[in-house]
Amino acid sequence: MSASLKAMARERLAAIDAAGRRRRRRVITGGHGVALAADDAACINFCNNDYLGLATDPRLADALATAAGRVGTGSAASQMVTGHNAEHAGLEADLADWLGREAALVFSTGYAANLGAITSLVGKADHVIADARNHASLIDGTRLSGAAKHIYAHADLADAETRLAGVAGQPGHRLLVTDSVFSMDGYTAPLAGLAEHARAHDAWLLVDDAHGLGLFGPGGAGRVAEAGLDSARVPVLTGTLGKSVGAAGAFVAGDADVIELILQQARSLIFSTAMPPAVAAAARRGVELSRAADDRRAHVHGLIARFRTRLAQASVPLAASDSPIQPVVVGEEAAALDLSARLAERGYLVGAIRPPTVAPGTSRLRVTLTAAHTPEQVDGLCEALVAAWQQTPAARQAS
Ligand SMILES: *Cc1c(COP(=O)(O)O)cnc(C)c1O
Repeated sequence: MSASLKAMARERLAAIDAAGRRRRRRVITGGHGVALAADDAACINFCNNDYLGLATDPRLADALATAAGRVGTGSAASQMVTGHNAEHAGLEADLADWLGREAALVFSTGYAANLGAITSLVGKADHVIADARNHASLIDGTRLSGAAKHIYAHADLADAETRLAGVAGQPGHRLLVTDSVFSMDGYTAPLAGLAEHARAHDAWLLVDDAHGLGLFGPGGAGRVAEAGLDSARVPVLTGTLGKSVGAAGAFVAGDADVIELILQQARSLIFSTAMPPAVAAAARRGVELSRAADDRRAHVHGLIARFRTRLAQASVPLAASDSPIQPVVVGEEAAALDLSARLAERGYLVGAIRPPTVAPGTSRLRVTLTAAHTPEQVDGLCEALVAAWQQTPAARQAS
């Protein structure tokens, strides 16, 4: 007789508890702006990805409400059946125009977009060459594709080239896969170099620009645009609409034939209900505002510089990041949790990131700055962070 499911669940949860790794969701009452009520306590949110502050912008809410009034809430079917609305088609055209690609294809989430793109383009006979710290959706897409995996050291151009050269003569296709800005360390992949190596070794390059979109490049078109990499260099460009764009959903962009193939093949799109068309309408407004948001971009980059200056003055070690993702690595899990708890006491919400999300011994606070923060809020966070940092084992060792 098999053990009861409930007993199994309790046993495994006990193991998660014993490792101190039970995660808990906060209940946010009200909006998801910078000033939050989390579990009914007021705090300033420094752990979201709403980089341009558009997630609570009334102009997006208006676009959503107006479209919902016209077309309702549900899309009621897969895009391939009757779920593809004029709002979705418009959003795809807007994205293609923004990103300088022939076409774009909208998915319900970035997770689904990456799964769909990778599994549509490579299979068992092929090779994926991947950065060791790629986002989980890229890792899972690679696994699901069945392609042979070749992992190179994080952002290491020489190792990437070695792996590419290692499979260059073999049968099958080669897909090089990377985040642009890595979500847990804020570091930017050497995109131009990767594109060069991919070309030299006959591989296609897929870049997930989730954390670059809206923040970098002309009109906020992202890290790929900033590096001047067109669809010949980066033939598969993915990104989410749930971060800078302030809405939800995601896309894959590229040459029309490539996008058409993904539409025909991606099971995460074909067998899934389309994003609500009203969300597409909100995303269109988000794209329009993101493109025009040079002032917000300047503001958030100013805050990033401010944060780094304050922390450097207090000898808090900084990560090599010019992005809004500013991790403070403290090492042990308990120290990261303690730091996060001390900040919470002062009204600052900053997530502690621990294994298995990051490697053991590299637990960290992951601060994210957005255009919705004020310089005063960032100064307040820095003051609290420096005070708490000085109590950590890592700081006491250093002094
Ligand atoms: C957030 C994120 C995703 C997933 O996008 P969702 O729309 O939230 O599903 C994919 N890739 C990266 C690098 C991300 O940071």
